[in-house]
Amino acid sequence: MPEKTIFQKIADREIPGEIVYEDEQCLCFRDIRAQAPVHLLLVPKKLVVRIGEAEPADQDLLGHLMTRVRHIAEQEGFADAGFRVVINNGSHGGEAVPHLHLHILAGRQLGWPPG
Ligand code: 5GP
Repeated sequence: MPEKTIFQKIADREIPGEIVYEDEQCLCFRDIRAQAPVHLLLVPKKLVVRIGEAEPADQDLLGHLMTRVRHIAEQEGFADAGFRVVINNGSHGGEAVPHLHLHILAGRQLGWPPG
């Protein structure tokens, strides 16, 4: 059995996480090093390593993640003010954790282009 990723350990309650949303397919919790007043990570419970390695069979799961963003934004109260969804992929993308995650950033004016 491959070692669990840090996000699988949060999903399995082996390490703590400030969880704001959960269903049978995904988990959303606060980033431990927030880059904005609101910084959430939305992760599939099933391991998809990164968006650049997603398979056609992951289509429904990826669609589920994308449509859950609206629910979470409304629940957490930043839907109207706006927010950003980011997926880092690989070395140049700044990916550190090899378990697909959507960063959801909100709570301040975000700059563009990103660094
Ligand atoms: P990446 O750079 O891979 O796109 O983002 C990984 C994110 O996971 C980073 O923003 C980092 O702060 C966050 N992170 C890493 N370890 C933990 C952890 O143990 N708990 C939480 N809540 N976030 C983590």
